[in-house]
Parts: sequence; structure tokens; C-alpha cells
Amino acid sequence: MLRAQPTASHHIAGAYIDDSEGAPMACLYPATGDKVAELHEATPALIERALAAAQAAQPEWAATAPAERGRILARAAAIMRERNHDLSVLETLDTGKPLQETLVADAASGADALEYFGGLAAGLQGQMLRLAGGDFCYAERVPLGVCVGIGAWNYPTQIACWKAAPCLAAGNAMVFKPSEVTPLGALTLAEILTEAGLPPGVFNVVQGAGAVGAALVNDARTAKVSLTGSVATGHKVYAAAAAGMKQATMELGGKSPLVVFADADLEDAVSGAILGNFYSSGQICSNGTRVFVERPLRGAFVARMVERLAGVVMGDPLDEATNFGPLVSERQLESVMGFIRKGEAEGATLACGGHRANRPGWFVEPTVFTDVTDEMTIAREEIFGPVLSVLDFDSEEEVIARANATPYGLAAGVFTADLARGHRVIGRIQAGTGWINTYNLTPAGMPFGGMKLSGFGRENAAVALESYTQLKSTYVATGPVEAPF
Ligand code: NDP
Repeated sequence: MLRAQPTASHHIAGAYIDDSEGAPMACLYPATGDKVAELHEATPALIERALAAAQAAQPEWAATAPAERGRILARAAAIMRERNHDLSVLETLDTGKPLQETLVADAASGADALEYFGGLAAGLQGQMLRLAGGDFCYAERVPLGVCVGIGAWNYPTQIACWKAAPCLAAGNAMVFKPSEVTPLGALTLAEILTEAGLPPGVFNVVQGAGAVGAALVNDARTAKVSLTGSVATGHKVYAAAAAGMKQATMELGGKSPLVVFADADLEDAVSGAILGNFYSSGQICSNGTRVFVERPLRGAFVARMVERLAGVVMGDPLDEATNFGPLVSERQLESVMGFIRKGEAEGATLACGGHRANRPGWFVEPTVFTDVTDEMTIAREEIFGPVLSVLDFDSEEEVIARANATPYGLAAGVFTADLARGHRVIGRIQAGTGWINTYNLTPAGMPFGGMKLSGFGRENAAVALESYTQLKSTYVATGPVEAPF
């Protein structure tokens, strides 16, 4: 049996630590259901230890030269790249995503973020304003203090890196809680950061379910929380942050539109829709799950999509030939199957898939629905699985209105040969992140995040670094002080 064997459940103050008093947490391999690791939830004593370690370490870290902070992050990025294969195997055991994917998408993207924010650390600047009579004021960007990161289960290593890198680059300390479903990736990040020279306490990982996350957010020492999760959790975490007047970044769910005009390159449009619906077996927040296809292209689009999906290789995710893995958990499988049954019951037509695969593990066949209308549940609610809905449209105005008729606003895509139209349409869709003639590419320098119920704040790019700072202004007088009496 495969085992991932983390040294211990938590990583606090630069060292692995366990506490068997915490409730047991089994980490199951989604391709077989086998237990690959057993960890323990953090007890209140361990949560306290992690927050205290972060609080103790943060001032000295903030006082460390920004260039040195950056060098440590860059060293961690290099270690991640050297160990990419092992980290990818671990990510596959944690999530069930095919090794073919994790080898290029997870630790690699995490390393990109560490390197990118490591490079930005020394360039973090404030403002200076000259005033009358030789007076002036300056505003520095100072760290927030102790920040909390809470992750979802779809990209455990990437999410931990996307949050830790800007947080640490700006001189903060972090306590990170991974999803209880995928606890392993963040632990190896903590180990690597320590090896790269990060002082003990600057980055800590504690395990547990929602209650552990809530305890971290509610603690008076926490200055900011960055959550990646569902809208329902976002409501709770944002409310808790507001109660303590804490800063927040909310990376939440979506039901994003992908618009394919009739002049689009068919092969590219199908490839884009595959990336935006079936990569990671559809468990990606920004997926373009409402695929609006202009009516003249619709028949060819669906036919080619079904043909291409016949090339899916479902199998052991550790086999590099496998390009389609299971869902992360049995619970997620049941939820996705529930949406598929609803799609059928509400009158959508199955063009392919629609079943649990006949093999061990939590595999669902790649599924395409046609004849989907805007009112159907599968067109309104986030499924977070390999389910693509094709919706027909006839005009640009119509598709923009329909694309925007959702409470979500995370992402959007447009495929067209007419670039002017591409810019025009993406410009009018209410989404924080858009793509023209591709889908789901998220380089470290591109701000990523949502509008409307999909959240606020951005990951990646300089704006993420700034979001882990606050402005501190100082007025400097150079002359006598005038007072009325
Ligand atoms: P959840 O919202 O269920 O959980 C997210 C994290 O929050 C988990 O670590 C969870 O702990 C924790 N949590 C739950 N309740 C609380 C609470 N009251 N206080 C503090 N923390 C809490 O999301 P999933 O893990 O199921 O992930 C899927 C969702 O994440 C989808 O909606 C997806 O769209 C979204 N997502 C958004 C992304 C973005 O960047 N916009 C990227 C990736 C995913 P636990 O689960 O361990 O109980």
C-alpha cells in the first residue's frame, strides 16, 4: 500500500510536531480509497503554540532586510524545483490528480510564486510627498503582523505557496491551515522554507477542519485572513474577520462563462474548454463551466468535444500515461453525481459521460450536457467536477447579458478570430480574471481573483504583495509649530 508518511501532523516554529490528543485525520488516496497517511487535528494547545510562534518571530522577520527575505524565498523556490518529482508524487497521493498534471502544475506553480515574490520583496516601496515650507510626509508599506491562510483541497501546494510567498515577502508571519482532505502539501512547503533559511515561527502549518480555521481567524493576534474556499465558507470567514476588524482576501467559487463565437478556431476552442472543464477532473474554481457556443458552430463543437474526450486515459494517477484522475473524495463524488442526475431530471441531454466510472476510487466520467438552459441547476450552481454544459447563443449582446446573469464573477473566457470583439466582450463580462483564446493560465505576474460573490482581493502580481501590507504615514515638520493660543 502507498504511504505518504509525513514526519508529523503539524509544522510549528521550524519543526514537525504531533499531538495524538487531536482527533485522527485520515488522508485517503482518491484513486483507491486507501489510507496513505494518518494525521491528527490541532488541539487548542497546538493552535496556541502556532500563533504564539508566529507572533514571536514576526518582528525580527519584518526587520530583516527585504532582499534577504527575498533570497530565502528564492532558495525555497529552487529546492521545490529540484524536488519537483517527489513533491508531485506527494501531491498526487494527496489529491488524486494525475502525475502528468502535478509534475507541471503544482509545485512548479508554487515555486514560480516563491521566486516572483522573492524578487519583489526588495522593491516594496512607499510614497513621499513634499509640502509647503520644507515640510514633507512619507507613507511606508509596513507588514500586517500575523496572517492566517486557509486552503481548499484542489491545489494544496499551490494555494499554500500563493498565500505564503507574498505574505512572507512583505515581512509578515503566517499560520496556514490546509483543507483537512489534503493535508500533505503545505507541510512539505514548511519543511522546504525552513531548509531555505526561514527563521522558526515565520511559517507554520496546523491541521484540522473548519473549527481549527475558525479558531485561527477569531484569534486577536490575527491581522489578516486569506481564504480559498467556497462562497458559503467565505461568508463565515469574512464575517468573523469583520468582527475583529481584520483584513481579508476571499478567493471563492464561481460559475464562469466561456464564450465561443462561430469564427473561433474549433480545435483551440475545444482545447480551451477541455482545460476549463476537465483538467484536475474539473475541480478548479475558475473553470468555464457554462460554455456558450454560437449556434452555427454548436454541432461541430459538441461533436469534436465528444471525439476528443474519447482520448481520456483514466487510470492510476501515478502512471504518467493517465491524464484524467478521480475526484478528491467520496463526498465530492456524491455531490457531482447529484448534479448530473439533476441535469438529466431538468431536461438537459447527455452528449457523453454521466456515470461513475466502473473502477475503484472516486472517478466520474468526463460529462458533457447539451440543450442546457440558463435556469437549470447545472447552469447556475458550481459543480466542481468534470461536467461541461453547452448553452447555445445567437448574438453578442445576448451572450454578454447571459454570461453576467450570475451572482458569481470569478473568471471568463472568449474564443474568437476577431480580437477586437474578444477585447470588447471580455471587457463587458463581470469577472475578475479573463482569457482571450485560451483558458485557465495563471502566471505569477497576473492578478487572480473574483468579483461579486466570487470574492475580493487578488492573489499573484504586485497587488498581492501590497495586500499583505498597510500604509503608515508620517508628517515631518521642518519649521516652528503654529498654534492658535
Ligand atoms: P470549503 O469552503 O469547504 O473549505 C475551504 C477551507 O476553509 C477548508 O480548509 C475548510 O476546512 C475551511 N473552513 C471551513 N469552514 C470554516 C470556518 N468556519 N472558518 C474557517 N475555515 C473554515 O471549500 P473546499 O475545500 O470544498 O474547496 C472547494 C471550493 O473552493 C470551491 O467552491 C472552489 O470554487 C473554491 N476555490 C476557489 C479558488 C479561488 O482561487 N477563487 C481556488 C480553488 C478553490 P475543512 O474543509 O478542512 O473543514
